[in-house]
Amino acid sequence: MSHPLQLSFVASAKRLADLPPSPSEVAFVGRSNVGKSSLVNALANRKQLARVSNTPGRTQSINLFVLPDGATVVDLPGYGYAAVPTREKRQWGPMIEHYLLERDCLQALLLLVDGEIGPTKLDLQMLDWVREHRITTVVVATKLDKVKPSRLAGRKQQVAAACRLDEGDVLWVSASKGTGIDALRSQVRTLLALAD
Ligand code: GDP
Repeated sequence: MSHPLQLSFVASAKRLADLPPSPSEVAFVGRSNVGKSSLVNALANRKQLARVSNTPGRTQSINLFVLPDGATVVDLPGYGYAAVPTREKRQWGPMIEHYLLERDCLQALLLLVDGEIGPTKLDLQMLDWVREHRITTVVVATKLDKVKPSRLAGRKQQVAAACRLDEGDVLWVSASKGTGIDALRSQVRTLLALAD
């Protein structure tokens, strides 16, 4: 097993201007309930680092974590949750766009899609948008353990095709079972250019 990412919570911000500077950063984004908090916790091997929320979409702020060498990992608020008040939904787009376009230290975005249900329309819109803006993006398919083994090969093909990627370019993970977590940790370290 690779070492867990030693993430420490630093800040929760509503605006890019309120985030501390960083030498190198990666960010996680995805639809609410995609398993983002569980994944951040799994990467750090901590249970409560990013709160696994029972009311998805409640945390509408940018959460920033730091690694011992100063590089940072950002947990962006989830999109597409029906119960979020309209006013907050309207704020999501400008806040995230501003972060993605102006955060100079951002090395890559990790875009989470639910492996059990495949990419949604919103996921594909997000992917189009980041491609249009030439933001380096890695697609991570979550909840691998929820896909029946007999369906896995087909599902992997389907997710890659929907995202217009080669199958090998989608990272499949299960936060519950720990599958793919080592590979994702090394991907994050590579993107941040940290020593393993
Ligand atoms: P977030 O809203 O994207 O932060 O998603 P959460 O991490 O809060 O997870 C949403 C729900 O999916 C919770 O009920 C989690 O227990 C569940 N979940 C997250 N990751 C996995 C996984 O890898 N496997 C399974 N089976 N469930 C998961």
